[in-house]
Amino acid sequence: MPKHDVIVIGGGPGGYVAALRAAQLGFNVGCVELEAALGGTCVRVGCIPSKALLESSERYHEAQTEMERHGVLVKNVKLDLERMLSRKDEVVKANSDGVAFLFKKNKIKRYRGRGEITGPGRVVVHGEDGREELEGKHLVIATGSQVSTLPGVELDGDRVGSSAEALAYRKPPNHLVVIGAGYIGLELGAVWRRLGSKVTVLEYFDRILPGMDAELARDALKTFKKQGIEFRLGLRVTGVRVTGVRVTGVRVTGTKAQGNGAMVEIEGGEEIEADRVLVAVGRKPNTEGLGLDSVGVELDERGRVKVDGRFATNVDGIYAIGDVIAGPMLAHKAEEEGVALAEMLAGEAGHVNYEVIPGIVYTEPEIATVGKSEEQLKEQKIAYKKGVFPYLANGRARALGATDGKVKILAHAQTDRILGVHIIGARAGDLISEAVVAMNFSASSEDLARTVHAHPTLSEVVREAALAVEGRALHM
Ligand code: FAD
Repeated sequence: MPKHDVIVIGGGPGGYVAALRAAQLGFNVGCVELEAALGGTCVRVGCIPSKALLESSERYHEAQTEMERHGVLVKNVKLDLERMLSRKDEVVKANSDGVAFLFKKNKIKRYRGRGEITGPGRVVVHGEDGREELEGKHLVIATGSQVSTLPGVELDGDRVGSSAEALAYRKPPNHLVVIGAGYIGLELGAVWRRLGSKVTVLEYFDRILPGMDAELARDALKTFKKQGIEFRLGLRVTGVRVTGVRVTGVRVTGTKAQGNGAMVEIEGGEEIEADRVLVAVGRKPNTEGLGLDSVGVELDERGRVKVDGRFATNVDGIYAIGDVIAGPMLAHKAEEEGVALAEMLAGEAGHVNYEVIPGIVYTEPEIATVGKSEEQLKEQKIAYKKGVFPYLANGRARALGATDGKVKILAHAQTDRILGVHIIGARAGDLISEAVVAMNFSASSEDLARTVHAHPTLSEVVREAALAVEGRALHM
């Protein structure tokens, strides 16, 4: 029976990074992954393919609408969706192959199949060629998450699907209805809007991006509406019916049914006709088929694996990280947990600073946040100062033609420590890193304001927002 110091179940960003770090630290590591390709949800059907399509669709849109302003005349812009999708697949493959290369380089043994924990230190791999038993001193559950849906909404993988299907539609839907105005729904809604679909986003709350700073979410809503995305907020979807034939009912929007669509049913009897429905209402942890019951690993009230501050479950020698445990379902959070756990297992002081985990929406413009929102600060009765600076007053933003946006910095009223940074605008996802580093070192807004920022760059907007915290922004 193969023996390892560490066996990781799941080859996503949490699992593969834990495996890499553990191997770097001298452990003999095995990794069990169900799918042929390594990289998990993130690489196969998440972060990477969505960003590839966002980039391609943005270029298509730019060629149609923006290039002329730069004096670049592009005629007869056409969409070759097949090529766009195959480029996305190539990007995915390159990333997945990259993980496989790193496994080889670090001598991590890869097992293909479903991993099941059969006892302390025991894992069975159910592969295509039968079962194989492994023995490991430390077992790490990194099985991630899968799409969840609403009562009455059954995913058929075709008309009614998840982000995985929306990353691979073979033609732009006439009318795409997105259920859920979180980052996944908005990113994929934006892709298909740019590629020519009518897009309607339905959301239960009366705002988009629930949980994010409300001011930014309001700004984003205005921009997305200008881009032609329709929003229906504060309504409850009660069901979706796949329609093979034309269905009667109150048709509030949508194109003529072509006999192959879906009806989205809203509380109160209204129906919305679509030819594709993207369900983006959240994700649930992957805990089934892992043998957790039989070994007695406890789950929390939301079905996530319960761990302590060292990622240890209640069963000795079994740990968990990433989407399968509590916390934001983000690839970089999973990765950091993988690193921290491997270091702890090696007797080092691994640590994840959960106060400064950035969240980014890769729409155009991008939205990026870290730390507390204004709403959270108010709720927690923390007195704060606020500095805001618009992209409009920045030279580089004008040169880029990207003057929509702002940076908002929230700092403690007495100590000036930065508590939250919220950015909407071009390259917000890159700009936020400066704030993350600053906050990780407990910087004050004064620290940021007194740091030299290269000119002309968008990073000057961050510095000006830091100056604005004390009312001394220079270019406003
Ligand atoms: P996963 O990536 O889900 O990996 C778990 C792996 O375990 C999978 O490969 C699965 O096949 C395997 N597995 C499950 N059960 C078993 C078993 N019993 N045996 C063996 N293998 C098993 N996050 C970001 O930070 N940035 C983004 O831009 C971003 N975009 C996203 C876009 C979309 C459309 C989606 C769906 C998600 C996105 N995410 C993004 C979230 C991100 O993908 C997840 O947070 C991240 O993948 C979690 O990593 P993980 O390792 O915990 O789990």
